[in-house]
Amino acid sequence: MTSSPTLPYRIGFGEDAHRLSGGRPLILGGVPIPNAEKGAVAHSDGDAVLHALADALLSGLALGDIGQYFPDTDAAHKGLDSAVIVARALDLVQERGYVPANVALVVTLDKPKLGPLRAAIAQNVALLLGLPESEVGVSFKTSEGLAPDHVQTRVTLLLVRSA
Ligand SMILES: [Zn+2]
Repeated sequence: MTSSPTLPYRIGFGEDAHRLSGGRPLILGGVPIPNAEKGAVAHSDGDAVLHALADALLSGLALGDIGQYFPDTDAAHKGLDSAVIVARALDLVQERGYVPANVALVVTLDKPKLGPLRAAIAQNVALLLGLPESEVGVSFKTSEGLAPDHVQTRVTLLLVRSA
C-alpha cells in the first residue's frame, strides 16, 4: 500500500482508442454522434472520451486504470454506460480528498466532423465531474487519413486537494 497523497495538486492523464465499425452507435463524452457511419467496437458502450477521462482521474492519484475496476471479461459490464465508470473513478478520487479543477480533452477522429458537438460534449463532461463548462477544454483533430477506422482520445486534468 502506498502512502496517502499530500500534494495540493495532482495531474492526471488518460488515453483510449477504439476500432470503428459499421452498424454501431458512436458515443463520445456521453453524447451520441449523429451522422456517424461507424461506431466503436467495444465491450461497454465504447465511449473513448469517458474511458480516457476515468483513467485520467485514476492516474492522478496513482489508482491504476479502469481495466482493474471494470474488466472487459466481466459479462456484467457488457454495454455498460461509461458514465458509471467515470462516477466510480470520481468517487475514488473524492474519497482521497481531491476534486477535479479543470480538464483538457482531445479527440482524434476523421469522420464525422465534431465541431458542432463541442459544446454538448463539454457540457456533459462538466456535468459528470461537477464542474462549470468553462473548465472543460475540448479539442478535435483528424488522423489525416492515417487511421480512418479508429477513434483516439487523450485527457489530462488537474486534481486539487479539497480536504
Ligand atoms: Zn475504451
